[in-house]
Amino acid sequence: MTTNRPPAAPGTFVISLDFELMWGVRDLQTKETYGANVLGARVAIPAMLALFEEFGLHVTWATVGLLFFGKKTDLLAGLPARRPAYTDANLSNYVALPELGPDEAADPYYYGHELVAQISRVPGQEVATHTFSHYYCLEPGQTPADFRADLAAAVAVATQQGYQLRSLVFPRNQYNAAYLSICQELGITSYRGNEAAWMYQKQSEAAQTPWQRAARLLDAYVSVSGPNTYKPAEIAKNKPFDIPASRFLRPWSGRLAPLEGLRLRRILGGMTHAARHGEVFHLWWHPHNFGANLPQNMAVLRQIAEHFWALQRQYGFRTQTMAELADELAYLSAK
Ligand SMILES: [Zn+2]
Repeated sequence: MTTNRPPAAPGTFVISLDFELMWGVRDLQTKETYGANVLGARVAIPAMLALFEEFGLHVTWATVGLLFFGKKTDLLAGLPARRPAYTDANLSNYVALPELGPDEAADPYYYGHELVAQISRVPGQEVATHTFSHYYCLEPGQTPADFRADLAAAVAVATQQGYQLRSLVFPRNQYNAAYLSICQELGITSYRGNEAAWMYQKQSEAAQTPWQRAARLLDAYVSVSGPNTYKPAEIAKNKPFDIPASRFLRPWSGRLAPLEGLRLRRILGGMTHAARHGEVFHLWWHPHNFGANLPQNMAVLRQIAEHFWALQRQYGFRTQTMAELADELAYLSAK
């Protein structure tokens, strides 16, 4: 039964962003086909930070380790000796090294040092990890030892710059249960798991079915999979904690503009459900999704932020980074 009274324990709004610039799309796109979005992300990030600060939103920025560098000499010195040998060699971001410019000013596609610094200056923002090289945990050819070397390199560059990495997002959401103990050894307290419904289950990219893609698209507009919210007690289990995604914030689409209202309602509805029932709603996207149509995307984000505030007033709905929620889960699981 639904009431308008606040739940016994408040619900939580979690936002995580996969911050990767060109490293997240290099195997599929070129600077010609997607470069404008990547450069657009550099404009979108300060705009998003201003909004997060205005609304006091706490956000986890899962950052590719290679983005921490500002100069090629530093980047080359920070590479792990051991690198993944994917069967599909094009998946390895190390093939892009020869084309990198000397620094962030000369090559804004591949360096993010200044942006990471900007993020860290805004209250409530968590600098987290999206692995060092945008590592694919389910692709053939790579091994657990490769993954360990990759994540250790991410921890090393972050530590050098004064950041403690605690939360992880698996690139392409290729979640690999066998790698969780490695994450924990390297200080990771939580990761973003996938939505429970069948269309969000991940194998390697090649194993994705068209049905899954179509169902995910439909689910963005009408409820196929439900609100995808959950009680903290349900996830206060094994460490590192799984803080599953509830919803991907699809970029604003001119082509699907008539359906934009449905898309927003689906997100706001999930937030309301979480706030009323003391559950977690976890929204995610990539900054480069805002790299085109920035005004439209920012308008959607503002409506989400305003809805959060309304839910905070009415139900005590809270905003937390993944690391902050993981601290509470650790307390819950110890009881
Ligand atoms: Zn990614």
